[in-house]
Amino acid sequence: SAAILSGKEISQKILEELKKEVAFLKEKGITPGLAVIRVGDDPASIAYVNGKKKDAEKIGIKSYEHILPASTSQDKLCALIDNLNSDVNIHGILVQLPLPSHIEEQAIIERISPDKDVDGFHPINVGKMVIGQDAFLPCTPFGIIKMLEYAGIESKGKHTVIIGRSNIVGKPIANLMMQKRNPGNSTVTVCHTATPNVSDYTLQADILIVAAGRPCVVNADMVKPGAVVIDVGINRIEDKEHPRGYRLVGDVDYDSVSKKASWITPVPGGVGLMTRAMLMYNTVLAVKKANSIKE
Ligand code: NAD
Repeated sequence: SAAILSGKEISQKILEELKKEVAFLKEKGITPGLAVIRVGDDPASIAYVNGKKKDAEKIGIKSYEHILPASTSQDKLCALIDNLNSDVNIHGILVQLPLPSHIEEQAIIERISPDKDVDGFHPINVGKMVIGQDAFLPCTPFGIIKMLEYAGIESKGKHTVIIGRSNIVGKPIANLMMQKRNPGNSTVTVCHTATPNVSDYTLQADILIVAAGRPCVVNADMVKPGAVVIDVGINRIEDKEHPRGYRLVGDVDYDSVSKKASWITPVPGGVGLMTRAMLMYNTVLAVKKANSIKE
């Protein structure tokens, strides 16, 4: 049965290293600052923003929270971003998505200075990533890359199959896994809702990355023995016995697939924690870039 690729363990190591780097920056008189903007009261967004705030505080990054009502106008949100773009105490800006439907999300993403775009969603950073230049990488795909790196999982020459083609997971992880780098350097296939017989592809996967947003999209019959299975999905399943009334499951049928795979990421405790750690990583990186610090 599969070894557990633990986001908990790996993210903790990353956060410990970042904590030292932040201490070093503070000795130089620089306090890393992360602005987190939330518009409206979506419960998942509240939880995510609180998590990000806590992570920042834990490693010494100062977080600046901006909570705006759901009725906030596009102009008002743009004005806030403009202020944060020019504020020298702010190194990273994060706008929690999704935004209320009257706000044009892409315009907001593009309003953030590419130098403070710690989510890595600005087209400048996306473009640089695609052509293999130095850029802020989006946190979830970056976290997956770090997991493979820490676990010493070889990807060169392997077949990576991805389920999902979103801008925040599927497309960027496909790009990173084919870049001439390690981890990376693999042959990539991307499956999505218009792919007939997804299992024809998943059965060929040495590395299978699942970001479909539906429970049990992948079961054991779809997995090659010995495959590395990365489950990005976070789905809320009603569970009256759980104190919260729900529990979290991934997109992969963990019980059956873990018997066949060589490595598997759990949910929770997998990719989600890596995503959080990489946001902190990108914030520290933004500070170093702003101050021309190499190491
Ligand atoms: P999305 O809904 O934007 O994209 C899902 C993609 O999967 C779509 O491109 C669709 O074509 C494809 N898809 C859906 N069902 C499919 C099926 N049965 N067969 C083949 N393709 C299918 O979602 P997203 O933003 O990429 O997120 C995916 C999942 O990952 C969600 O559960 C989300 O909550 C989770 N997520 C987790 C993290 C994390 O940190 N772990 C970060 C972002 C998203």
